[in-house]
Amino acid sequence: MTSPSTPFPHRHLLGIAGLAPHEIRYLLDEAEHWVALNRAASRKHDGRLEGLTQINAFFENSTRTLLSFEIAGKRLGADVINMHAAQSSVKKGETLIDTAVTLNAMRADVIVIRHQSSGAVRLIADRVDCPVLNAGDGRHEHPTQALLDALTIRTRKGSVEGQIVTICGDVLHSRVARSNMLCLTALGAQVRVVAPPTLMPAEIERYRVAPFHDFNAALRDADVIMMLRLQNERMDGAFIPSSREYHALYGLTPERLALAKPDALVMHPGPMNRGVEILSSVADHPEKSAITEQVEMGVAMRMACLDVLTRRSRGVAGWA
Ligand code: ASP
Repeated sequence: MTSPSTPFPHRHLLGIAGLAPHEIRYLLDEAEHWVALNRAASRKHDGRLEGLTQINAFFENSTRTLLSFEIAGKRLGADVINMHAAQSSVKKGETLIDTAVTLNAMRADVIVIRHQSSGAVRLIADRVDCPVLNAGDGRHEHPTQALLDALTIRTRKGSVEGQIVTICGDVLHSRVARSNMLCLTALGAQVRVVAPPTLMPAEIERYRVAPFHDFNAALRDADVIMMLRLQNERMDGAFIPSSREYHALYGLTPERLALAKPDALVMHPGPMNRGVEILSSVADHPEKSAITEQVEMGVAMRMACLDVLTRRSRGVAGWA
C-alpha cells in the first residue's frame, strides 16, 4: 500500500486478489479513456511517461501480452526495453533474486514480468524499488488479462454486473481463469466454470463460482462464453484422453453456441487451438466473437495500469 487516499493505493499490480471492486472499476474507467484515444488518427499521446524506463522481463513465451505492454509504454512516451529469458543470464543459472537485484540496479521506473513459476513475480516485486506489473506467473494470476476481459464485457454489454459468464476449459492450470473468477465475481457477474473432472481445481467453491462438468448445461442462458486453451506446458502427465475427445465434450461449436443467449459473446485470451477448444466458425464469428476486441482492450488496459502505477514516482498531484 502507498497512499490510502488515492483511488488505486497499491504499489504493484500482482493479481486481482486484494483489489477492491471500486479499484478494479477505477482501472476500467481509466482504460476506457485510452480506448477512445487509441482509435484516433494520432496515437502518440501526451507523453506522460517520457523519460521513464519500462523493462518488460519475460521469462516465458508471449506474443499478445508482450507486444501490447510494449505498445502501451511507447504510446505513453516511455523508453521500453524487452528482456527475453532465452537471451538472459537466467539460462546460465542466475537465481530469481539475482535477476531482481540486477533489474533494480538498472533503475527501471516500472517492470513488467512474466514468469513460469507461480509467486515468482511477487518475489521480484519485494526486492525492487519500482512498481511491478504481473504479466502472468505460472498458474497463479494474469491480472491485466482479467481487467481487459472485464473491459471488453463492459463495453459490449454495458455492464459486468448480472452477466452470466461461462468459463470453459483447463481451469486447473489457467491463470486467466483464476484472475477472471476473482475479477468477474468482484464486479457482480454470475460465473460458471466448466471443465473435465481432471482439470477442475479441488478448491473451486472458494471462488464463489458454479462448477459444471457438462458444457451444454453450463451454456444455457449464458451471456458470455470464455474459452481456455489446454495448458499442455503446465501438465505433468495425461489429463485428457485425447484432444479429439476433449473437443467432442468441451469444444465450442455453432451448435453449442446456440444453447447460450442469442446475443452471447465469445471470448478467448489467445493463443487459440482452433479445432480443439473452439472452431474457426465460432472464433471468427463477425458479431459474436469479441476476440480481436480483447486484443484492442489489452493495449488500453495496459496503458491505464502503467500510467496509474507510475503516478506516485512522477509526482502526480494527489498520488504522493
Ligand atoms: N495467453 C494466456 C496466458 O498467458 C492464455 C494462454 O496462454 O492460454 O495465460
